[in-house]
Amino acid sequence: MGQRGIFLDRDGTLNHLVYYADTDEWESPRTSDTLRLIDGVDVALRRLIDAGWFLFLVSNQPSYAKGKTSLENLQAVHNALDAQLLHSGVHLSAAYYCYHHPRGIVPAYTTNCECRKPGTKSLREAAASFDLELNNCWMIGDQDSDVQCGQNAGCRTILLEYSHSASKRGNSRPDHGVIRLIDAVDWILRQDHK
Ligand SMILES: [Mg+2]
Ligand SMILES: [Zn+2]
Repeated sequence: MGQRGIFLDRDGTLNHLVYYADTDEWESPRTSDTLRLIDGVDVALRRLIDAGWFLFLVSNQPSYAKGKTSLENLQAVHNALDAQLLHSGVHLSAAYYCYHHPRGIVPAYTTNCECRKPGTKSLREAAASFDLELNNCWMIGDQDSDVQCGQNAGCRTILLEYSHSASKRGNSRPDHGVIRLIDAVDWILRQDHK
């Protein structure tokens, strides 16, 4: 029997979205100084690790393809997140980023790829690398595309109701819905004891 893992969306799941006046939208952090973890995320992830789950980050980051920031800045945002999580004793087994967008302005990153959620390339890669049994895995995120990605890969799914991404929800049917990551973790750990 394979290992089991949790696929975690990043923005609106682990860290807050950031308001940008140029687009008048709440978006992924474009620079590392704007990265803020959501309260309780470190505790929630530690609980999963302590219960034997592998953790994987799966994130769409199209802002470079759209000309809004640099790849260096996006790498710095990831490094800041990784450092903050490690400081809390949370080790991510792997992080999978999609930097593409079908309607970008940077030609090399403007494509219909299979790694952009709800595409499942990253989940299939993780399954192959870490011997995961995808139907024993969960995907947790704050958008319909996260739920659809998890379902496309055969995972169970939890949808978080993060306030600034409400417009990205309403057209998916997750196994469960909660407000915060810590509630999702409680739910998953309870399933273990049924
Ligand atoms: Mg998100
Ligand atoms: Zn991609």
